[in-house]
Amino acid sequence: MLDIARDFPILTNYNKDGHLIYADSAATTQKPQCVLDALTEWYTVRNANPHRGTYKLGALATDIYEYAREVVAEHIHGKKQEVVFCRNTTEAINLVARCFVEPMLREGDEIVIPISEHHSNVLPWQELARKHKCRLVYLLTDQRGRLLESEIRQKITPKTCFVAVAQVSNVLGTCFPVKEITRRAHEMGAYVLADCAQGFLHCGVDVEEMGVDFAAFSAHKAFGPDGVGVLWGRYELLKQMPPYNLGGEMVDQVSWRKAVYEKPPLRFEAGTQNASGAFAFSVAIRYIQQLGQKAIREHEAALTAQLLEGIREIPGLRIYGNPDPAEDRCGIVSFNFVGQSSLLVGRYLDAQGINVRSGTHCAQPLLAYLGVGSACRISLAPYNTADDVDCIIRALKGGPEMIARTVLRRTK
Ligand code: PLP
Repeated sequence: MLDIARDFPILTNYNKDGHLIYADSAATTQKPQCVLDALTEWYTVRNANPHRGTYKLGALATDIYEYAREVVAEHIHGKKQEVVFCRNTTEAINLVARCFVEPMLREGDEIVIPISEHHSNVLPWQELARKHKCRLVYLLTDQRGRLLESEIRQKITPKTCFVAVAQVSNVLGTCFPVKEITRRAHEMGAYVLADCAQGFLHCGVDVEEMGVDFAAFSAHKAFGPDGVGVLWGRYELLKQMPPYNLGGEMVDQVSWRKAVYEKPPLRFEAGTQNASGAFAFSVAIRYIQQLGQKAIREHEAALTAQLLEGIREIPGLRIYGNPDPAEDRCGIVSFNFVGQSSLLVGRYLDAQGINVRSGTHCAQPLLAYLGVGSACRISLAPYNTADDVDCIIRALKGGPEMIARTVLRRTK
């Protein structure tokens, strides 16, 4: 098992009286000291605007920024010129929707997404479908949150022009069969984007292996800083796409009436880039590589099994998605206590020093499909420990009555 909590200062500094049990890593991860140091280093001795200044510090900033791109490319088995730095997964998906899918849409085309997608991977497609009289088709999950092959074959057809699918559901924790979905989509002549926001840290992203056309992820969900994300795209597709934003450094030549844009990836990086963020993300990736993807997967699998086994039989507790740890799933477990508000459960856990998220998890179509208004979500990361999971289980075993009593006591 990994033992890395001490690398993350917030886990020990947040509470005077003890350890913070942070179980909301699907929202954002905590940052290791090396990433905090990288941000300080950037602003202490590296800071200049990349791709602009020709003086030594400016050239160094450019080199570091481009080195960060190389680190990302190598980590996901892509090419350097296929890595576009942007703000986050949301921006990467919007970029593909606007610059790749919208120009090719014809009335009657179908865009296919699973019902469980995050709003960031629903709304851009909903808007395009509405605007261009296309259909947004939902792949429905089964009772256990899985996408069955029959559903994939039935819904991805010659009418499909684009498929956008999460590598891992941010509510159910299911790992979706991206490779199989991509194979089917390509057979039907459609293109595929993988939303790897939840998969990047926990499963790893290998764009070659997945076979997709585009992939999107955010640094902040993988030990990196906020405000930097990546769109990876096949170069021959990026090359044919118009720019997303217009402005500085995405352009090669500008005359009074027209402009010649840069080649990708710079074409999609208008304005001053988040260079400190890209640098710190490259340090986060090196940290992930040091831990090892296999060790991360095994650590989280063990914690997820411990958690599911510990809470599965709690009376009144209902788990959404697959309660079987042997299935292909990550350490995201959503649940409710029957008849109990998820917000109260979240407040009760907070009172025990346990941070989980309660609400709709930016996945309202899924919650409507499941017939629930909101849910609690525990999401684990490599810095969580078996003791953290024990504490969560013990707290939940307190049951709904204790939760109601504790919350009432605190609000009086
Ligand atoms: N996709 C999935 C599956 C997510 O879980 C999230 C965030 O939780 C996003 C997209 C959006 O990520 P960001 O807010 O970093 O753009």
